[in-house]
Amino acid sequence: MSKCVNCNREDAAIKFSVLTWRGSSKENVEFTCCSEECKKEVEDFTAYVNKNVAKFIILIILGSLSFIPFIILYSSTKKDLYGILSLFSTLFIIGFAIFKYPFATPQTNSSFGFRKAVKITKAIGLCLMALGIAVMALFSILG
Ligand SMILES: [Zn+2]
Repeated sequence: MSKCVNCNREDAAIKFSVLTWRGSSKENVEFTCCSEECKKEVEDFTAYVNKNVAKFIILIILGSLSFIPFIILYSSTKKDLYGILSLFSTLFIIGFAIFKYPFATPQTNSSFGFRKAVKITKAIGLCLMALGIAVMALFSILG
């Protein structure tokens, strides 16, 4: 018996393949699901990944680099606000990217099943956004 790639149930028997992203390239990947409902969820999710993976990567890169202009402003003005904004923008943009495009690694997807992996990934994104907001809020209360 195989496990359902979507909900992790043990008695999965519906096999199908979908063209989707695996690491750095698109491949035909074999999936096994327990029901037509799970199969449909996997097909919809992989279609969403295929459509949005470029936006996800661009947002992650933007988020990772977004601290740079604020650090430059900070070093020329010495205003703490810019230091805080550098932290906020990085946390918030990366958190937003992960929440909007909850694309976990293939390892995470296969150990939790897509359904749970998406929930966990979205929760991590929300936590990062909340952390960014908390940093801004603390700064405006204390600063
Ligand atoms: Zn299932």
